Amino acid sequence: TVTTYDERRVNVRSEELRARALGRSPGGVHSNVRLRGPQPFIRSAKGAWLFDVDGRDYVDYLLGQGPNFLGHAPAPVVQAVFQACQGGLLYGGQHELEVQAAELVCSVAGWPEMVRFCSSGTEAVQAALRLARATTGRTEILRFQGHYHGWLDNVLTRERGGTWGVASEGQVVDHLRESHIVPWNEADLLAAEFEKYGDRLAALIMEPIMINAGVIEPLPGYLQKVRDLCDSYGVVLIFDEVISGFRVGLGGAVERYGVTPDLATYGKAFAGGFPVAAVVGREDLMVRFGTGEVNHSGTFNASVMAMAAVTATLTVLRDQSPYTRVDEHGRALMAGLLDITARHDVDLRVAGLPAAFHVSFGDADVRDYKSLQNLDLARYERLAAALVDNGIWLTGRGVWYVSAAHGQRELDAALTRFDKTLGEWN
Ligand code: PLP
Repeated sequence: TVTTYDERRVNVRSEELRARALGRSPGGVHSNVRLRGPQPFIRSAKGAWLFDVDGRDYVDYLLGQGPNFLGHAPAPVVQAVFQACQGGLLYGGQHELEVQAAELVCSVAGWPEMVRFCSSGTEAVQAALRLARATTGRTEILRFQGHYHGWLDNVLTRERGGTWGVASEGQVVDHLRESHIVPWNEADLLAAEFEKYGDRLAALIMEPIMINAGVIEPLPGYLQKVRDLCDSYGVVLIFDEVISGFRVGLGGAVERYGVTPDLATYGKAFAGGFPVAAVVGREDLMVRFGTGEVNHSGTFNASVMAMAAVTATLTVLRDQSPYTRVDEHGRALMAGLLDITARHDVDLRVAGLPAAFHVSFGDADVRDYKSLQNLDLARYERLAAALVDNGIWLTGRGVWYVSAAHGQRELDAALTRFDKTLGEWN
């Protein structure tokens, strides 16, 4: 049952759990993305709602960083996984569900010819980069400022004083030597970069919609320009669709913008919350995994749980196509947030797609990571903390995700809670 904001109790149980967590796990968390200071501990989740251990409820617009696109614990997916797992979890051999899942990924997304499953987006990216290097016999890669491709040494970067470099202590600097990190969404600049070293590039990798750091669409014609440059210089084009895939439409960014990469990575939304990812792409490239020339391995790849989750999720997405509903909710929410902020005389910026949008303060022509920094991101971070306190689950980064489980009740609750927060906060 859903309690109301005023029925909330204090964070007694969360604080107890946090103290225990800090004793046994560094920072009290298991992913550095979650190092956000004291937060409520979650007891359970259903639909678009989270319930914490102290009896509070939250309308969830974080959705586990995106995967819960069908809402929490979607019955068809949970049931399919439960049923499949009665017959065993992991065979160290092939099974029918993995064939079905691979066929579904190709047919539902529309363009991939072959699939290799793995367990996380981070791994899928590494597999794609290795395959691109093997295919081209080159080693350098081009990637973009602010695009996230996982936490490993060769892709994790941070800007300091205008220079992009390692983001973590202990990261091997040399692993970034083969990377060129350039601003995104600037076609002329990219052409100039390709002129300098395009013939040394194995791959260009990007989030085709820059979502992770703040939702920014590619400018009209940009993706086609990227495609053309990759073709001219023999560079493998990789779309990292770990967030955008199956979220912005069945065919992800490929379908939305009509530009097809050579390889792509999927994760998050295509498995209904279960830990699964995939590298997909053109058969003439992907076959090299199959000849054994290019190694891609993993004990848990294509587990029964993972394949049941992908099969059930993609079946729901294909048969029920919740995208119109998700977009309607997202659009109404974006408009509602702006209406409320106008009433409170607050200058909020809401931009992006209905299925994933970015909320911040400030006014800037945002087209890439650098221009995103012209917004007042720190002020939004403070608002987000107050929103969590008032029953809207978010991080301070400003990205709001919408699921198929968000309806009118969630919209009303979110807007009421947002209104109340601004009333108290401003
Ligand atoms: N690529 C993108 C675009 C992502 O947003 C993420 C995660 O947020 C990843 C890759 C890494 O995926 P994972 O966290 O499953 O390793």
